[in-house]
Amino acid sequence: MTASALTQWDFSNKQGEANYQHALREYPAQAIVDMRVLRDNMRHLVQVVNADPNSPHTAVMGVVKADAYGHGLIPTALAALAGGATWLGTAQAREALLLRRAGIGEDRAHILTWVNNPLMVAYDELIKEHIDVSVGTLTALEHIVAAARQTGLKARLHVKVDTGFGRNGFTLAQFDEAAAALKAAADEGSIEIVGQWSHLAVADAPDVPDFVEETDRQIAVFEEFTRRMKDAGIAPQIRHLANTAATLTRPNIHYDLVRPGVGLYGYEADPAMGTPQDFELTPAMTLQAQISSVKTVSAGHGLSYGRVYVTDEETSAAIIPVGYADGIHRSASGFNETGSKHTTRLGAPLRVMTKDGPRIMRVSGRVCMDQFIIDLHGDAEQLGVHIGDTVELFGPGRGADFGEPTADDWAAAADTISYEIFTCLRNRVPRLYEHAREVLDESDLALMDESSLL
Ligand SMILES: *Cc1c(COP(=O)(O)O)cnc(C)c1O
Repeated sequence: MTASALTQWDFSNKQGEANYQHALREYPAQAIVDMRVLRDNMRHLVQVVNADPNSPHTAVMGVVKADAYGHGLIPTALAALAGGATWLGTAQAREALLLRRAGIGEDRAHILTWVNNPLMVAYDELIKEHIDVSVGTLTALEHIVAAARQTGLKARLHVKVDTGFGRNGFTLAQFDEAAAALKAAADEGSIEIVGQWSHLAVADAPDVPDFVEETDRQIAVFEEFTRRMKDAGIAPQIRHLANTAATLTRPNIHYDLVRPGVGLYGYEADPAMGTPQDFELTPAMTLQAQISSVKTVSAGHGLSYGRVYVTDEETSAAIIPVGYADGIHRSASGFNETGSKHTTRLGAPLRVMTKDGPRIMRVSGRVCMDQFIIDLHGDAEQLGVHIGDTVELFGPGRGADFGEPTADDWAAAADTISYEIFTCLRNRVPRLYEHAREVLDESDLALMDESSLL
């Protein structure tokens, strides 16, 4: 076995292996997304909501905003549908249109979109493509009604209510005026009030009693909005409130639809909730890179900008050729030199295969634009670490023996959340898809970029 045989990818055929080799020639890092894992995470979420006697008919939306949290919009949407999602959600209207234009028709999925500039967004196109739109301001409502009149079609609306998040949605104080305007638009036939919805701010913090109570308060306000809508004569067809955290831990608010995002990608919303494994979820993305240089450096040698990391002893330093221009967080840098300005902090972990098995090494010094350095804490030759070896930055987190970091580990090192770790990954890092041929039928496979299939 060569040291570069870090993970054995499950190629579906010779072309899959050729696609992989091509990707390695194109770029020294790859993000590999397991379509079977995406499908199975969705299947599990569907089963979680259907197993709950309070919500046996709850539908599940795969939230695929931001290029499916960096996993790739179309492949992820198809895997989510294969896993039993019947709704897809994107923040930006553009991504909702991309889903329809890729061939995901209204017979396959309802699509909801909720972020735009209401003065300029192409509500007419959204309406024609049967895409549901969120409304949380009177301005947006005016523009939606105008587009509906112009197209002669009914807009499908979800009324966003602000239950305490303080972001999108009508507040209770604004709601009488909003309800009157919604009623008038519904009566004239330009809108159909499909949903009432809101978003939770702290459902991922079961360890903070105040936050648990705050979620209870948000739920009570949500119910108050339902009463106010009913009084105004505009009862929504469905209601939805739950993100991943609430889908997994709050069965009483599954309502008619849940909207998991991060759970589809295999992560819990916050490590305070537990590990992905505790919730029977598996991280779907592996980020790997190939070492571009290995050399011996003497003791007391600074590594990277700012001399925040200085070698303790003679050691080997390896360069990993991805940096903050790829979305590798600069805040994941490792400092061991306290000096006058800095405190010691561990850099983010990666898995390096040595001849004695996998070892965790860490980002050593500052992450640069296109690369970072790792101190191998030993002699590369003796460790069996070479130029061209594949290292794994994060992956599914397969057990202690496998020594594999996850995006949660990177998030802890970079002082952020797993979401930002994979969402920031730039598109210049190729996305490759494992098990697509197993998960998708021929017509869905045809919607994917063939060169991305392993
Ligand atoms: C992103 C988002 C979600 C999904 O949140 P997760 O924590 O990833 O499950 C659900 N609803 C709305 C409105 C969102 O913006």
